[in-house]
Amino acid sequence: MPGEGGEAVGTAPLHEARQYEKLGDNLVHCSVCAHRCRIKDGGHGICGVRLNRGGVLYAATYGKISSEAVDPIEKKPLFHYLPGTLSYSLGSVGCNFQCEHCQNWHISRATLEDGLLRDLPPGEGVARAQGTGCRSVSWTYNEPTIWHEYPLDMGTLARAKGLGTVYVTNGYITEEALAEIAPMLEAFRVDLKAFSEEFYRKVCRAKLQPVLDASRKARELGMHIETVTLVIPGLNDGMDVMDQLIRWVIEHLGIDTPMHFSAFHPDYKMNDRGPTPLGTLEKIYHRAKELGLRYPYLGNIRSNRYENTFCPYCGATLIERSGYDTRILMLDGTQCGKCGERIEIVRDVR
Ligand code: SF4
Repeated sequence: MPGEGGEAVGTAPLHEARQYEKLGDNLVHCSVCAHRCRIKDGGHGICGVRLNRGGVLYAATYGKISSEAVDPIEKKPLFHYLPGTLSYSLGSVGCNFQCEHCQNWHISRATLEDGLLRDLPPGEGVARAQGTGCRSVSWTYNEPTIWHEYPLDMGTLARAKGLGTVYVTNGYITEEALAEIAPMLEAFRVDLKAFSEEFYRKVCRAKLQPVLDASRKARELGMHIETVTLVIPGLNDGMDVMDQLIRWVIEHLGIDTPMHFSAFHPDYKMNDRGPTPLGTLEKIYHRAKELGLRYPYLGNIRSNRYENTFCPYCGATLIERSGYDTRILMLDGTQCGKCGERIEIVRDVR
């Protein structure tokens, strides 16, 4: 069993990591994400938050948060998981990707020394989720995979209290780490940034295939999955690549997988292009429908029409969304209230 020990960052002692191997000469091999870093004594992984001290790997952000909020679940975005409810949302610092267009760069690029972190033990986090009337806990504002041990412990407690659990993730998690969190994790909201290895290599300094593998595995493990693709003009908005992405989701995750396509706005290091035109997003939306996807959505745009949930059989508006205002109009449990069609939606924590 991993224990605690080593130096202190902040007020709590460092927490020994799970999912790593000692290689000799004080070298360690982390297997939480697909980078599978080999880390020398005194060093840290690509994520910046897993530290080798004397041949022991420590999860330096265990029990430490940079951000805390009570969010509508729709903000993740998750449209088919506990719709219309609040999610207790947490973030820490660091990331295993280096996306040039990161919208949360102030925490994803922050280091342990930047003074953004404060303590929140798992039990206290769960109590705060309950006390704020939330139906779930989300690990969201930075990459939860690199926080592995903390969501694992908090999520296990949260599930025991009847709360749902959500990862908002880039999907760069290994099969073994995913298997470890599977008993506690209900929803896997994964970014599919582009159907292109080149995009992942150049823009995110990562690879696409591990993300596809993890998404497929998450589905096999019974998690609820929704995908998000930020559509960036000139980078991943070609209809041929978008076609491949949608076809892959249909084939491997299923036609009922909600896919969110969001408008890009210049951010962080990517200021060399304008926002995504509405016309591009509309084209993708209609193409997704043509290919057979039942629940495409558009995000970060003014028109609300593309955020509503329609019955794929009779076309009735089941859920109407306006900003983060969600109105469930015609759902009878998980069936269309008009025609009785079964709708792939999670209404209660399992
Ligand atoms: S979580 Fe990923 S990036 Fe961080 S140390 Fe482990 S393998 Fe490296």
